[in-house]
Amino acid sequence: MGSGVRLGIDLGGTKIEIIALAHDGRVLLRRRVATPHEDYLAILLRVADLVGQTERELGEGASVGIGTPGSISRATGLLRGSNSVCLNGKPIKADFEAALRREVRISNDANCFALSEARDGAGRGANTVFGAILGTGVGGGIVVGGIVLDGRNGIAGEWGHNPLPWATDGERPGPRCFCGRAGCIETFLSGPGLERDYFGMTWQRLSAVEIGAGAAAGNAECEQAMQRYEQRLARALAHVINVLDPDTIVLGGGMSNVQRLYDAVPALWAAWVFSDRVDTSLVRNVHGDSSGVRGAAWLWPVAG
Ligand SMILES: [Zn+2]
Repeated sequence: MGSGVRLGIDLGGTKIEIIALAHDGRVLLRRRVATPHEDYLAILLRVADLVGQTERELGEGASVGIGTPGSISRATGLLRGSNSVCLNGKPIKADFEAALRREVRISNDANCFALSEARDGAGRGANTVFGAILGTGVGGGIVVGGIVLDGRNGIAGEWGHNPLPWATDGERPGPRCFCGRAGCIETFLSGPGLERDYFGMTWQRLSAVEIGAGAAAGNAECEQAMQRYEQRLARALAHVINVLDPDTIVLGGGMSNVQRLYDAVPALWAAWVFSDRVDTSLVRNVHGDSSGVRGAAWLWPVAG
């Protein structure tokens, strides 16, 4: 363990990815395998295999951090809220520690995203970073001084199932959400949320990517959908700024590829931020799809 090699594992619903980072953050190795479908024991064994194989190749032991959707309940130690349903209700920390014969650190995939970007990505040098994932779902993570803020209940940064703030009459009660409520931020700001909004206005089905491309090409309905999206994102992030007042907000997930957001949203959010000026920056992630697995490795701030 003296070498300072960190292993990060991104435990997703369809793939498991492992990365090995040297003490200075260099990528020594990365590999991706399919996630055994809804088979908890097979997932544990697959991860143990990956770690064993990686350590044999590197010729040394390493720390292990794991990022996964969902969060571990402080009350029970059991995972909840994962889209890999077979992981829910399982004591995954204890089971992975038994399978890997060492202490492991586990955090939410949004926390890992925020940590990776804060450590050596778009939030480098910032003290307080809010990482917002705008993908098929909406999640968030908070890093302060290089450390993930887990929170008393293990849910810090989880803003996706708050209601869209300053909702207009037309936005109430809002789309039904899988969580059981209606009008959650996720139902507006996820990729599917943008697609639903566009469909509701036009009765045409376009993907989020097509809506963005249509707006860039001058299509008026796509442009209006993007403007509604930007205005809603500005309100949702103003809410975060009023509570957390971060130095930097880093966007991840598929919607983070829409370049216009980074100019449009900060030009709008001052209307809802309770301050005479807003110096918070809004930036695109640097590490892309690798942020989760890199952040999992950085869950051990000092390896060895
Ligand atoms: Zn919800």
